[in-house]
Amino acid sequence: MKFKSFLVVITILLFFQITDFTQILKGVTAQVNTEASFQEVPEKADNWERIMHRDTEANDMFPTIPIQHYDSIFGYNRQFFSDGFDYPVGIPNAEGYFKAQNFGDDLHLGEDWNAVTGGNTDLGDPVHAVSNGLVTFSKDVCCGWGNVIRVVHYIPDNPEHPFVESVYAHLNNRRVQAGDLVMRGEKIGSIGNANGRYMAHLHLELRSFINMSLGPGYSKDIFGFFVPTDFIEKNRPH
Ligand SMILES: [Zn+2]
Repeated sequence: MKFKSFLVVITILLFFQITDFTQILKGVTAQVNTEASFQEVPEKADNWERIMHRDTEANDMFPTIPIQHYDSIFGYNRQFFSDGFDYPVGIPNAEGYFKAQNFGDDLHLGEDWNAVTGGNTDLGDPVHAVSNGLVTFSKDVCCGWGNVIRVVHYIPDNPEHPFVESVYAHLNNRRVQAGDLVMRGEKIGSIGNANGRYMAHLHLELRSFINMSLGPGYSKDIFGFFVPTDFIEKNRPH
């Protein structure tokens, strides 16, 4: 009898202990959830625009394919070495297109290309890779950029700038993804208006310093940028 009583007492004690333990666990979980919901949600709601902007700068403005992979990617794909540059619209010589805004106008870091037919008639017109290369970035980016494609070109016979980069912005659509290899003249997207922000045009940049942030599009500091037309004219296909 004594032993049975002892067992009953132990069982009762264990039952309460387990019950208590479960309740403690529930309490801890509830506390964590409460803290999370009170600390995180209001901050995000109050600072949503700042957080979006910060996240875009930090994560979305740099190429997706890291620079240390370029040597091996081009090494295994020698047919994608650059053999010269064409214009991205009206290929190969920009026939039917003109520069609506030059490099340097109002601190513009690129060239804006439009069809001579004017207005939005060029919305959806094809945009072509200016040379063979590796797509390092293909995203819809916030703010004034819209759909952007970035391509890195390897020019083995240009020791001063063995790698240059072309940037195509405000696109209506993108037909390539980061990691794709493209040929000069290949259709990579189409002329757009950055989700309705502008009249349709292509913003084209050519960069001597690859893998910088996408940046602001306008700046006094032109380090790392070519004048696109000058560079294309000096480096026509051979
Ligand atoms: Zn522009």
